[in-house]
Amino acid sequence: MDSSCLFCRIAAREIPADIVRESDGVVAFRDANPQAPTHLLLIPKEHVTSVAELGDHHGSVLADIMQAATQLARAEGIADGGWRLVTNVGPDAGQTVFHLHFHLLGGRPMGWPPG
Ligand code: 5GP
Ligand code: ZN
Repeated sequence: MDSSCLFCRIAAREIPADIVRESDGVVAFRDANPQAPTHLLLIPKEHVTSVAELGDHHGSVLADIMQAATQLARAEGIADGGWRLVTNVGPDAGQTVFHLHFHLLGGRPMGWPPG
């Protein structure tokens, strides 16, 4: 837990968020500034700054996040329409919170490539 990290504090329930799912290693909550009808953030409870900092021991938590994404897409009713799972790494990608998070977006058509 990094007490200066916003998402560590959300995972610890020190800062309120609309948490939709929690397991041993993963928390999912609604983005405060949603970019689609469904916009969730899936994070490991362990503080990791981005995908670029992942180590060998992170395999199981990553698998849990991927499985949670599929289950949440079904629960949100966007599984049939399709959805996007994306993570930003560093400034050019637009990363603003430096605790690894995957955006789960769906509920509207989305263009590719992203702007
Ligand atoms: P990034 O740009 O780092 O990939 O995404 C960070 C995301 O975190 C943004 O989509 C932003 O709206 C969201 N966010 C920032 N602060 C908060 C907050 O305090 N609560 C919640 N639920 N989402 C936040
Ligand atoms: Zn953190």
